[in-house]
Amino acid sequence: MNSNVNITQKSALAIISSNTPSTDELVNIAKEIREEHFGKNVIIHILSNAKSGNCSEDCAFCSQSAHYNSAIPEYDLKSDDELYAEAKYAYEIGAGKFCIVTATRSAFPSLVAELCPTISRIKENFSNLTICLSLGFLNNDEASKLKRAGADRYNHNLETSERYFPSLVSTHTWRERYETLLTARQHGFELCCGGIIGAGETDEDIVDFLFSLKGLDPESVPINFFNPRPGTPLQDAKSISAEKALRVLALARLLLPHTDIRAAGGREKVLGALQKKALQCVTSIFSNGYLTTAGQGFESDLKMIEEIGYRIEKE
Ligand code: SF4
Repeated sequence: MNSNVNITQKSALAIISSNTPSTDELVNIAKEIREEHFGKNVIIHILSNAKSGNCSEDCAFCSQSAHYNSAIPEYDLKSDDELYAEAKYAYEIGAGKFCIVTATRSAFPSLVAELCPTISRIKENFSNLTICLSLGFLNNDEASKLKRAGADRYNHNLETSERYFPSLVSTHTWRERYETLLTARQHGFELCCGGIIGAGETDEDIVDFLFSLKGLDPESVPINFFNPRPGTPLQDAKSISAEKALRVLALARLLLPHTDIRAAGGREKVLGALQKKALQCVTSIFSNGYLTTAGQGFESDLKMIEEIGYRIEKE
């Protein structure tokens, strides 16, 4: 197997369902592709949980859903100054992307009206910082306002295969998510679209999910690893092994050679000591924690990046 191989759904399934090629061999192929397109650069994304908890949706893996009793901080939209200060921090540590995330079903009009001046303020002061928004479903009016304010990218995750999605979420459909991505694209947003691996799906679901992403061709793909959250319906479920997680990331690189693939939430917990190998497949990480869980911290991330001879990409 080499880096020029054309991967079919059948061969992709064989790769993640078996140990052939070996994980080391698979990672080496992914690394070759990664370094051909991105060199040794790692893009840092900083997340802001701008409005936490009490979400109307019932995603079974998520502690921010109002349907479950999770002990997480709940608060309304952060102030303009708070978000600005977080963007400034992201800029100062050399992060290329600042992601504003709200636990909301949709980018509703008053939310958009409140956020637009903040987006413009951040963009005027840190023009190189990509502003990514994750506000839920998006209609044409709100998409147009957010784009005019200066937002660069829109995140909406497909999460898993269309087939498995109803096992995780009943309050909306995979298709609705897909439509929002098309709306964002029509309005000139870059797309950030990924999902969650290890939440009970089959290998076929993982492959279908990755091929859906390939069809959408987003600029950025965050791959989250299921990390059971207390109070959710999946609190006692087991996640996947570190090696399986690594094989999924390597396969994602083979399928999406030019895409900024991110080892996202659950990275430290699920990949553990294999994080350095993961960095040879992916091109970015979230640093300084996630929406409701802590990460290993920026200094540890930086050390890990430098230990494998990689560096943070400066825009
Ligand atoms: S994943 Fe997003 S939409 Fe689903 S419950 Fe959590 S915050 Fe709401």
